[in-house]
Amino acid sequence: MTRKMPNGIASLPAHRVPTHHLSEELLLDYAAGSCGEAEALIIATHLALCPDCRAVVEACDAVGGALLDEIAPTAVGAGSLEAVLARLDDVTSAVETSPFVAPRGHEDIVVPEPLRSYLATDLKDVAWKPVMRGLDEAAVPICTSPAKSRLMRIGAGVAVPRHTHHGSEMTLVLSGGFSDNRGHFVRGDIAVSDPEVEHRPVADADEDCICFVVTDAPLKLTGPIGRLLNPFVRF
Ligand SMILES: [Zn+2]
Repeated sequence: MTRKMPNGIASLPAHRVPTHHLSEELLLDYAAGSCGEAEALIIATHLALCPDCRAVVEACDAVGGALLDEIAPTAVGAGSLEAVLARLDDVTSAVETSPFVAPRGHEDIVVPEPLRSYLATDLKDVAWKPVMRGLDEAAVPICTSPAKSRLMRIGAGVAVPRHTHHGSEMTLVLSGGFSDNRGHFVRGDIAVSDPEVEHRPVADADEDCICFVVTDAPLKLTGPIGRLLNPFVRF
């Protein structure tokens, strides 16, 4: 079921549980606080839309908390205990404020927290920069992370050039959808790609696809023309 949005940006599926998730390994890294800021931001934003992955992180936290109870008196200093507790608070607030079901009157919120707080503006006011015909991007400023984070807008029906990855790429769909050789991704779905994955994402034909993308290395174009363009791929 989808609703047409009054701002014309997107139609959001109501009450949809994502079908493309994060690996337990990544969720464990997140729960342990060992992700960089950009990775943590995209994971937390997926969690805001995904009760399944939230449940995994809550279970990790419960196990971590139980272990902490056992070892805290001797092995964990006061500073590190505080850090862990602060981390638990972060996770809790991310879950509590998540607009998985948008409150009445806020149905047009396309960007959930915590990503929303990183954008200095509403999605409709984002200053898109063209990358190629039908493909625009806008940087999401993150000071403390070497990974690159950006919003991408793929025009309806547009195909992103075939590429693989020098490192990892996480793509979270915020509105619209795209397909590649792994399936169909819509709002809330997250795609994790590594150097093993070569794909050519194509946006759904009926509306633009807006994604939040975190990459830790440049893309590597693989089509015949793409290979010529590789020196010009910006990271
Ligand atoms: Zn999930």
